[in-house]
This record gives sequence, C-alpha cells and structure tokens, in this order.
Amino acid sequence: MTSSRGSKIRGHRPGADRSLDAPYRPAPRAAYAVEDPAAPRGVVDHRIAKQAVVDVLARNPVADDEYTTHINPEPYLLRAAERLGDATARPCPRCEKPGLRHVSYVYGDDLGDTAGQVVPPPRLPQMAREFGEFDVWVVEVCLACQWNHVHLTYTLGDGRAHR
Ligand SMILES: [Zn+2]
Repeated sequence: MTSSRGSKIRGHRPGADRSLDAPYRPAPRAAYAVEDPAAPRGVVDHRIAKQAVVDVLARNPVADDEYTTHINPEPYLLRAAERLGDATARPCPRCEKPGLRHVSYVYGDDLGDTAGQVVPPPRLPQMAREFGEFDVWVVEVCLACQWNHVHLTYTLGDGRAHR
C-alpha cells in the first residue's frame, strides 16, 4: 500500500488521494435515452479487415503472428464455439465449408464480473434490459479449419445508470 503522506507535492492533483491498489471504479456514465435496449447500436461490420486477413493467408500461409492467430485460436475459443457458438448459414471465408459459428463476448464497465465472458446469444436481450451499456464482440469461428476473426461489434443496454 502506498501513502501520499510525506509527499512534497502541494495542491490537489487529480487522483492523488486514490490508492494504487484501490479497486477499479469507472467514472459514472451519463444516462441516455434508448428506444430498444436489445436493438444493436453502433454496429461495426469487420468484413473488410477480415477479407484482408483471408487474402494474406491465401498468399502466404506462414505469415507472421498477426495473421496466423486467425488460424490458431486459443483452445478456449474453439470450446466456446462448440458449446455456446451460434451456428450460422454462412460458409467459412477461408475454407468455404459450411457451419461457421458465432461466439459472442461481452465487455463493459457496467457488467462487473461478466465482462470479457462468452454469452449465449439468447441471453443478450435479457442482459440488454439489465445493464445500461455494454459492447458485444461477435467472433466467427470455423470448426473445420479453425479460422477465427471478429465479425461484428455493437452496443446493447438500456442507457440508464444502474449503480
Ligand atoms: Zn474454415
């Protein structure tokens, strides 16, 4: 534990009285109006970045880590795709086999311990009503060739401050 006692710095510094090992507390977010908490907003389609990686890997299968990470996923991601992944009608952009899965990760200060976890898609509408704001990262995973890449990102939540 650090102490600011004995510091030679005078006057108020922002954050000066906050201990370094104090739990992280995000700044309160202003509430804002949301018509439908479960309707995705701020949707970003990552198809251009995705296609660029597919093209690099097609030309150079032993490309550097920045690219090969998209064909060597963490074991956790593959397990999540098998167990919690949403089957899609789209073929894999790399090997073109059917059965591409979507894995939805959730992030955001409002989520507490749930932040960074994989959530089954049917749970998202309920979470959108329970939390003010969180981001959903939809990662596509091919169980045949292990291709993986973020597919879509968007925001859900009712916009209220729940704490
Ligand atoms: Zn594939």
